[in-house]
Amino acid sequence: MKTMITGVRPTGSITLANYIGGIKGFVEQQYNYNSLIFIADIHGLTTYIDPQEIRNNILDITAMYMACGIDINNTALFMQSDVLEHCNLGFLMAFQCSVGELSRMTQFKAKKQSLGKNEKDMGLFIYPTLMAADILLYDAQIVPVGADQRQHIEKTRDFGERFNNIYGNTFKLPDYQIPKIGARIMNLQDPSIKMSKSALKDDKGTILMLDDIEITRKKIMAACTDSEGKVYYDEENKPGISNLISLICVVNNMTIEEANKKYKDYNYKDFKIEVADNVCKFIKGIQDKFYQYRSDEIRLKEILTAGANKARIYASKKL
Ligand code: AMP
Repeated sequence: MKTMITGVRPTGSITLANYIGGIKGFVEQQYNYNSLIFIADIHGLTTYIDPQEIRNNILDITAMYMACGIDINNTALFMQSDVLEHCNLGFLMAFQCSVGELSRMTQFKAKKQSLGKNEKDMGLFIYPTLMAADILLYDAQIVPVGADQRQHIEKTRDFGERFNNIYGNTFKLPDYQIPKIGARIMNLQDPSIKMSKSALKDDKGTILMLDDIEITRKKIMAACTDSEGKVYYDEENKPGISNLISLICVVNNMTIEEANKKYKDYNYKDFKIEVADNVCKFIKGIQDKFYQYRSDEIRLKEILTAGANKARIYASKKL
């Protein structure tokens, strides 16, 4: 059986984009693979957050993963820092790359520009080496992620291949799996930038999975569109409307063609109402389950410990 892995950093509240980019595809396929899903708390330290908030976010994400349908009888759900083999292998992966290539990584260049007061750039710089370790450690071949992670997965392949060439065939090389719809969910207010959980807390363009439903509705109703007044998918010329189409397709398991046909006679206001109703209903269903799981912290910690024990068996052997 092939292995599949994915993760989310505990650097803020989970967004609908995180769900679409990483979690949804994973949940749908979890029984077809030897499955691992982790909370990337060490990667999370590249962004400065109050330590207590990180601890809280970790439990939030654990409960969110469960609410989204992770089955811990099948899937190892764990915290990256509980399996320190990730760091050991990450260190070895740093020997497989050059300073030049790491400094050319898109995410490094972009995030370096917006470092906060307590943030240094070294963690961002070596991010790809730890990410390569996260994946190679388990010989994972399938990595469901959003389009923003494509370059990181390609680097993981490069580092693994270089290692294999020098030391013999040690690692299986991964492929990314980017969702057909919603690979890059955009900010509702500015559809030229991606929806991100590191956005400001009151960002009107980011849908948080734990936002009050009425706030989510307002954000969708206020989403940026265009002046044409026709609903159809055209990412280049109608990024705002296309983004909303992606959202409704994902929550209703619809294709873009089906949505184009169904909503072609809608005006923007009625279309937004339709998107808001469907997205809110979908998120509300997940929230109800989330709050049930979140109310039992002892159980959540047990889940993470059990997941780490399972993951460590592969990780220590590989290391
Ligand atoms: P991060 O927010 O960096 O922890 O990312 C966690 C997962 O969410 C990764 O698989 C990302 O590719 C995915 N993701 C983050 N932002 C987006 C977005 N705007 N659209 C689609 N997927 C995303």
